[in-house]
Amino acid sequence: MRISIRFKWTALISIVILMAYIFVGILAMRTVQSVASVNEIHSFTTKLIIGGVVVFILGVVLTFYAVTLVLNDLRKINKTIDDLNKKPDSDSRIKLRKRNDEIYDLTVNINKMLDRMQAYTNQQKEFVEDVSHELRTPVAVLEGHLSMLQRWGKDDPEVLNDSINSSLQELKRMQSLIQEMLDLTRVEQIDSAYLEQTTEVKPMFTQVYNDFKMLHPDFVINFDDDIREGSEVKIYRNHLEQVLVILLDNAFKYSADRKEINLAASTNSALLEVVVQDYGLGIAKNDLKRIFNRFYRVDKARSRKRGGNGLGLSIAKRLIEIYHGSLEVESVVGSGTVFKIELPLIQKVPEEEQTEKEATENNQATNNKK
Ligand code: ADP
Repeated sequence: MRISIRFKWTALISIVILMAYIFVGILAMRTVQSVASVNEIHSFTTKLIIGGVVVFILGVVLTFYAVTLVLNDLRKINKTIDDLNKKPDSDSRIKLRKRNDEIYDLTVNINKMLDRMQAYTNQQKEFVEDVSHELRTPVAVLEGHLSMLQRWGKDDPEVLNDSINSSLQELKRMQSLIQEMLDLTRVEQIDSAYLEQTTEVKPMFTQVYNDFKMLHPDFVINFDDDIREGSEVKIYRNHLEQVLVILLDNAFKYSADRKEINLAASTNSALLEVVVQDYGLGIAKNDLKRIFNRFYRVDKARSRKRGGNGLGLSIAKRLIEIYHGSLEVESVVGSGTVFKIELPLIQKVPEEEQTEKEATENNQATNNKK
């Protein structure tokens, strides 16, 4: 049997009030009996009974009212959750008048949680829509080539060759798209163990610079290395490398006649600053705001031809944000683009201070033992 909280609490609190009243009444009655006449005792008893009835009724009414107020809030919370269960994409939120108590705090937290859940669901939905949209083109191209092969290609070696080559190219594109989509989803669920990893900056930059120099012998790559020896950043090595590779890859991909790229890395007391600069096509002001969005390409045809899926920068930005850094861009159409990364350096205690600290700790330990 379901008994409402309102009745349970009203009955309980009213009984407690009544018992307390009876207890005080008995004590008062004992005192009165020892000092008062029979008439006075009679009049006192009547007043005590009337007082008891009034206190009981007031207790019931006030408790009922107080519990009803709390229950109304709970009912609003329940109704919102019910609405959301029926229609998960609804914008319904708990609306309470602003005040300073625990129930209001609870509703603010529930609303925040609902906002986050909705943002997450929308993100997932958008992602699935984007992915199916992106996969539609290569699948359609593949289908076209296979149909052509089926109709004429078997007997025409030229068509056969062309179609197979184009199909293989599309398959490669799909493969890279799937890999980048996987990278993007992995970035969203980075294992917390990675967040504690540190990377020594200098050797990593030297290695990436040498790799790119070997891969692009037709380019002039200037590396301005102003990294303090031994500097470390709190980022998983592969993630920092991934970001650098994305920015450098883009710099090469979107370079035009001037085949020159500048890579600069420097450390100050708190930050690692990295600059990747090219003298290529540049990005228009309107596009600059959107290049970090998933699947955004300034010029779809151009980017597609250069093998781009529009995911690299969103992966890079997310990675840098996860490690509390920043990734900014400046660009002039026709002149080139500059990407700038900032990451907090790990603050190391200088060696002398470290030894002093250890010595003090040792002394303290010895004193404690004594
Ligand atoms: P993509 O794989 O297409 O290069 P990104 O997310 O790395 O995807 O970049 C998004 C878009 O930003 C690119 O399609 C390109 O239009 C533009 N872009 C990125 N880097 C540069 C650059 N260095 N110079 C000019 N345009 C760039």
